[in-house]
Amino acid sequence: MAKSDNTRIDPRGRKVKILATIGPASRSPEMLRKLFRAGADAFRVNMSHGSHADHQKSIEAIRAMEKEFARPIAILADLQGPKLRVGEFVGGKAVIRHSGHFTLDRDPAPGDDSRVCLPHPELFGIMERGQRLLINDGKIKLVVKEADNHRIFCTAEVGGVISDRKGVNVPDAEVPIPALTEKDRKDLAFAVEHEADWIALSFVQRPEDLAEARKLIASHATRGQTPALCAKIEKPQALRRLDEIIELADGIMVARGDLGVELEPQEVPPLQKRIVGAARRAGKPVIVATQMLESMIESPIPTRAEVSDVANAVYDGADAVMLSAESAAGDWPEESVAMMHRITAQVERDEGYKERIRLLDTTPDATTADALSHACMTIADTVPISAITVFTASGSTARRVARERPATPMLVLTPSMRTARRVALLWGAHAVATKDIGSFEEMIAKGKRMALRHGFGEAGSKQIVLAGVPFGTPGATNLLHVVTLKGDELEKRGD
Ligand code: PGA
Ligand code: MN
Repeated sequence: MAKSDNTRIDPRGRKVKILATIGPASRSPEMLRKLFRAGADAFRVNMSHGSHADHQKSIEAIRAMEKEFARPIAILADLQGPKLRVGEFVGGKAVIRHSGHFTLDRDPAPGDDSRVCLPHPELFGIMERGQRLLINDGKIKLVVKEADNHRIFCTAEVGGVISDRKGVNVPDAEVPIPALTEKDRKDLAFAVEHEADWIALSFVQRPEDLAEARKLIASHATRGQTPALCAKIEKPQALRRLDEIIELADGIMVARGDLGVELEPQEVPPLQKRIVGAARRAGKPVIVATQMLESMIESPIPTRAEVSDVANAVYDGADAVMLSAESAAGDWPEESVAMMHRITAQVERDEGYKERIRLLDTTPDATTADALSHACMTIADTVPISAITVFTASGSTARRVARERPATPMLVLTPSMRTARRVALLWGAHAVATKDIGSFEEMIAKGKRMALRHGFGEAGSKQIVLAGVPFGTPGATNLLHVVTLKGDELEKRGD
């Protein structure tokens, strides 16, 4: 059996995508450009930090960069959700002593090593003696000694450095806060208005949370496609209804930071595998996030364990890996992206990876779309194929193909710039926004031309063209054509 031309590589040299969080270390157009060049395919605008003016600047810089590099780039606006945070400190930080006392109160004055403001009235009056307050991804562990309506007196079972607006988890108490806070609603409106490609919902607990966000998104949308919705899995409650949540979401994030605080850290690795597997089976892109190259916040070289962690997320079959503080607030943002690129590309060169990611059982649904996407794999295993070229309006055909995890590079041609941007988080999708096509002949001619132009084949190589006719009907994939590229087909302009 002739093998496909698997030595042909994707333009980035990898199929797994890199999502980099923007922050003070990376907000400048120069640094964003460096991160894109180093390998970032998508950027996370973290609504937990920074002002709308900051975010608007980042978004404008990314859109300008998109034109400069002629590549669609995804912007994911991450809503803070009902995340609890401490207030600010004199000088930005303080040290809580091990076994020392520390008080959380309602006084907005900057904190010190004995107290800080906890700007969440919901928590006062509900915390009880013996309950835990975990600060900064669980690095600091406070235990409640006594609490009233104004103060929560604690003992530091584990102390450490605490700084402005660090996160607080209260795994032992039921906190009466809605899934979308007032701030989230404003941030969501901002994200829709500024045409974010993805909106991520934090601390999702129920499928209803997604339905609510969808309704809000629709209410703000004025024209064209609305942002896709990513559910961050970081609450034990979400795991109980994982399949329903995946069903309602467009994408999933394994948000290990909060997940590892809400649960025990050792519970996270098996959950990562379970969540990635469930999302893959559903054909929804899945991002593995948090602490991936944590030590690179301060060091140009990651630990071996971190390198292994990124590699293992790739071996799990994740669509994307994410950088958090490494790119947002660290000393080595560009080096972190470059390192992530090298790790993912290396894993993808491993024959074992190709076998491993195809092992996961993704039984095709009984639809024409899935039958054809699945057939692409069989064809590419039988004759040498240089590219699977997908025509898609909504991106759903590209998701079907990506779900099969083909070794053959995938070129996604879409008339929708928003779809092109959205699939920047999808495994193996190299999207090009191009003018709409009207006929079958036009489609084949354009497929050939674009494959040649974007390096997805050369004269003599074969490509698979996958599409749905009539064009523009989402989910109507019903056409698979194998064509041979000639080489004199690059001529026509005006795409
Ligand atoms: P965050 O989400 O960085 O917004 O907290 C990711 C996580 O919790 O892992
Ligand atoms: Mn989180």
